[in-house]
Amino acid sequence: MRDEEPRAASGSLPQEFDRAGTVQRGPLVDPFGRAITYLRVSVTDRCDFRCVYCMSEHMSFLPKQDLLTLEELDRVCSAFIARGVRKLRLTGGEPLVRRGIMGLFASLARHRTTGALDELTVTTNGSQLPKYAAELKSCGVERINVSLDTLDPDKFRAITRWGALDKVLAGIDAAQAAGLKVKINAVALRGVNEDEFPQLLEWAHGRGMDLTLIEVMPLGDVGTGRLDQYLPLSLVRARLSERYTLEDIPYRTGGPARYVQVKETGGRLGFITPLTHNFCESCNRVRLTCTGTLYMCLGQEDAADLRAPLRASEGDDLLHAAIDEAISRKPKGHDFIIDRRHQRPALARHMSVTGG
Ligand code: SAM
Ligand code: SF4
Repeated sequence: MRDEEPRAASGSLPQEFDRAGTVQRGPLVDPFGRAITYLRVSVTDRCDFRCVYCMSEHMSFLPKQDLLTLEELDRVCSAFIARGVRKLRLTGGEPLVRRGIMGLFASLARHRTTGALDELTVTTNGSQLPKYAAELKSCGVERINVSLDTLDPDKFRAITRWGALDKVLAGIDAAQAAGLKVKINAVALRGVNEDEFPQLLEWAHGRGMDLTLIEVMPLGDVGTGRLDQYLPLSLVRARLSERYTLEDIPYRTGGPARYVQVKETGGRLGFITPLTHNFCESCNRVRLTCTGTLYMCLGQEDAADLRAPLRASEGDDLLHAAIDEAISRKPKGHDFIIDRRHQRPALARHMSVTGG
């Protein structure tokens, strides 16, 4: 695949002008012909938890003035939506701890009303859902992802360091009561929650929620040995198959998860295996950090600054030009996949910055 030539020299379709002379910008298509239809935005690097695989206990966070304001975040998101992005996910850090975040949801809701956006969604640790679930629903959010690795209160505290399980469970109750469809994401951690997957699965499916398991990724310094945490999902799947009938299904949610139907529970189970499989051929996404840096690939260093063009003028022409330039540099795939092929150690970065 990597020997193929890019299909176009520039990342997106050429500019055209309407009768009034206004620049009409086309959809975003990268040099390999992939349409960019999914934007993930990390709205803050801060969090009310300190999960052991994500953060060290003593984190230093970005100074507030480096962050895009909520208005600026709206401008960038809207620029991407004008160029064909149809799915927008707010993440973090913990997106729901950013002050005034519901104002951003409320303003982005207009793109759901016009039909420009198919999906406005969020990945959250759930702690703020009792407060915000109903409001999210009224902003056109229909499905949310809640991260929950264990149903054991002590383990939950050990994994999140600062979190309380009962608050998250209350958040999930509130989300379901508000009519939000909830998917549970759990990171598979060796020796921590590996014996709990049947219980998690039956609990989630019993409440009508899909469960997705995620392989821990070696991203950022978290102050503990990564190899201690790593549990390959191939092993988890093999163990679950001894107990349940797992049937591969083509169900997709626009993300990298591959799903099976669990015959005994009737629910869906997803696997996200970034280190053992890659899905770069069909990659439709880019990631924006809370400082306005655009990462065109989770597994590559290359990034583009959108904050400077955003702040340089009130109009969006410079911003659109910077987006075009960035998309024209979207790489074909992950470095760590290539490294695996060459038997070199996997190299992965960025998740702590880009929000996963
Ligand atoms: N705070 C929110 C939450 O926890 O859902 C959103 C941000 S968090 C970075 C997004 C997802 O990334 C969570 O499901 C979390 O479990 C996952 N995650 C964080 N660090 C990870 C790592 N090193 N490997 C795999 N998944 C990770
Ligand atoms: Fe916070 Fe989410 Fe990272 Fe946990 S995984 S520390 S909840 S950002």
